[in-house]
Amino acid sequence: MTVRISHRQNQGDRFASSHTRYGIFLFCSFLLFSSFFLFPARFGKLSAPPAIQEEQCVEPVYLYGFDSNIFHIEEGKILRNDYLGKILSNCGIPGDLIHQISEHAKDIFSVNKLQAGKKFALVSGQPCGKPDYFVYEPNPWSFVIYGLGEKPEAKVVQRPIVTSTHFKEGHIESSLWNAMADQGSTLQLISLMEEALGSQVDFYHVQQGDSFRLIYETRAVEGEIVDIGKLTGAYFKNENKEYYAIYYETSKHKGFFDLKGAPTKKSFLKSPVEIGYISSRFNPSRLHPILKYRRPHLGTDYAARHGSPIRAVANGTVTEAQRKGGNGLYVKIRHDKTYETQYLHMSKLGSGIRPGTRVNQGQTIGYVGQSGLATGPHVCFRFWKNGRQVNHLRENFPDPDPMPKEDLPAFFQWRDKIMDQLRSGNSLDAQNHPDFTDYPRPIPLIKS
Ligand SMILES: [Zn+2]
Repeated sequence: MTVRISHRQNQGDRFASSHTRYGIFLFCSFLLFSSFFLFPARFGKLSAPPAIQEEQCVEPVYLYGFDSNIFHIEEGKILRNDYLGKILSNCGIPGDLIHQISEHAKDIFSVNKLQAGKKFALVSGQPCGKPDYFVYEPNPWSFVIYGLGEKPEAKVVQRPIVTSTHFKEGHIESSLWNAMADQGSTLQLISLMEEALGSQVDFYHVQQGDSFRLIYETRAVEGEIVDIGKLTGAYFKNENKEYYAIYYETSKHKGFFDLKGAPTKKSFLKSPVEIGYISSRFNPSRLHPILKYRRPHLGTDYAARHGSPIRAVANGTVTEAQRKGGNGLYVKIRHDKTYETQYLHMSKLGSGIRPGTRVNQGQTIGYVGQSGLATGPHVCFRFWKNGRQVNHLRENFPDPDPMPKEDLPAFFQWRDKIMDQLRSGNSLDAQNHPDFTDYPRPIPLIKS
């Protein structure tokens, strides 16, 4: 990529600099000329007008590689039912030229791929002239320049993507969401944190005073963050415990690992819904909200929006998928010889879910509803151990096996590096503001 950009840069420099010099010369002459008439007194007092440096006159301001001091650039967004022919013929570009451009661009970036809502620009060398270039921006990482000269041109220009590492620290005041949203975090980062630590930390039960630290990457284009990259390290601390997840990727291993090198992803997810909250806990002597008498609640209720997906908390085989009494529509899964899970009050089953279906951890097995005895949309989640119902939030599930001994030293080295960053996060701040002003700019060719 770098090579292509610098190549363009070199080709473009010749044109741009001659244009720039010419533009600057004109502009400077104009300044000198007009100021003489406007401020003759000042010139009278001065022995000689100060020499005007070229650079002081006009700072180049680039857009799509075109200096907006030289080119007239009109920006817009593709409208619904817009197409290149329509936009260009409105600007006076003849139909046969539009056809030639479309043909020429077929294998470079087809003009049929223009989408409503995306940015475009019309660039012309003269303020009132026909456009010389049409620029289309399919995504923040690249743009396409269509030359509208006698010889059609088309080229895709990749913008440099700057990846930088960031540190984020937060304290929970009311909810994890608020702690993250206060700092302008995205949903993407929250879900990465859940992926990293979700099987150790019960994110439905975070409390005031809990805290977290994250090391993560962002991808930026021209100083604007366009995407979250990897979460490389995560730390969470609640009243009595600290949790770590280190992202590690080699040809043999990939994912989040704890400090000992064991995958953080446990055999069971903590919750059968991704977004929701615990509305009623496992309680052997609960007053039933509908039946109005004490009756043990042998499950954990997760309130969630009607129709949200319910996921299998671990790999297993569906043993029951049916509608029955107070349970409403439910699914039961056997995971191994010890554990089974059950999900009640569904509105609908997941596709292909029937007794005998093999399911994977995280797979949608049904949708939240309130079938059977239920006061509102929720999943009653029941966890069975050796045929008896237990509180899954109190269970200590066996840890997955750590990576083989011979792979540990390399992992530990990486882990220590990330741990250092998690501890002294602030030292990363310097990397958060990369200088975007002087990366090589792709300067497009000007028609000859
Ligand atoms: Zn329940």
